[in-house]
Amino acid sequence: MRIGFHVPTQGGWSKTLQRARERRCETLQIFVGAPVQWKSAQPRTEEAAAWREAIARSDTRPVFVHANYLLNLASTDGTLWRRSIRRLARDLRHAALLGAAGVVTHLGSPKAGNERTPGWCIDRIAAAADAALEAAEVEVELLLENSAGMGSAIGSRYAQIGDIIAAARHSGRLAVCLDSAHSFAAGYAWHRPEGLDAALDEADRAFGLQRLRLLHINDSRVPFASGVDRHWHIGRGYIGTAGFRVIVNHPRLRHLPMVMETPEASLEADLRNLRALRRCIDPQHRTTLRPAPRP
Ligand SMILES: [Zn+2]
Ligand SMILES: [Zn+2]
Repeated sequence: MRIGFHVPTQGGWSKTLQRARERRCETLQIFVGAPVQWKSAQPRTEEAAAWREAIARSDTRPVFVHANYLLNLASTDGTLWRRSIRRLARDLRHAALLGAAGVVTHLGSPKAGNERTPGWCIDRIAAAADAALEAAEVEVELLLENSAGMGSAIGSRYAQIGDIIAAARHSGRLAVCLDSAHSFAAGYAWHRPEGLDAALDEADRAFGLQRLRLLHINDSRVPFASGVDRHWHIGRGYIGTAGFRVIVNHPRLRHLPMVMETPEASLEADLRNLRALRRCIDPQHRTTLRPAPRP
């Protein structure tokens, strides 16, 4: 397994790389552009080339881009929906420039008071994914992330993710990212061996576990099946240390890249989470901790 963090990109690419090194990242997730602004500047060609080279030299892989938070692929508002497709296409192109393996996206939700049938939402998201992939014209995969099911968020059931993939024309370019905290909050008992086995069987039936590319490893600040998305520090939430032992050592998961999106991305907090997670890994699967970068 490779362990990393979602690392902020403020301050530019060399600062981002520095943050990744300080956090001993073996894999990495970033935003391209501010996560809550529609505008994003395309990285300059030389900048992107230098980044790809530095990332390759540091053996940090795979790199994932998390799509902008504003986009809503299930929006009932045509203007917002088309805008979301354009932004997702741009994130896919940026990801390709930066040598990323995939772009992770939330699935969105129909606007409150504007409820639609689940079938409508599935088709809407599949159409948006297809349109973004066609507009981007790059090889980067689009990873659909499961949700905690907050409000009317789509994707709290693995079957919905499978249905979207089945409805898409470009299903070969769609993959999946599962978040431990979202799964737990949605009622999948990832913290118990038999619960995780059952959840992974369900995921396998829904979309095929061979499509699972990435795990978001977050503890949950809210109890099991609460339907609320609140990430928390590893071992300090309701999943807890015993729960993470089940997750990170599971034979169907332990080969996957694991990215933490724990709160307050201070170096100290991130390193504490890294130590907490590493302690959960059986010694025979634990990789050597990367050395801290020289100042
Ligand atoms: Zn996540
Ligand atoms: Zn979340």
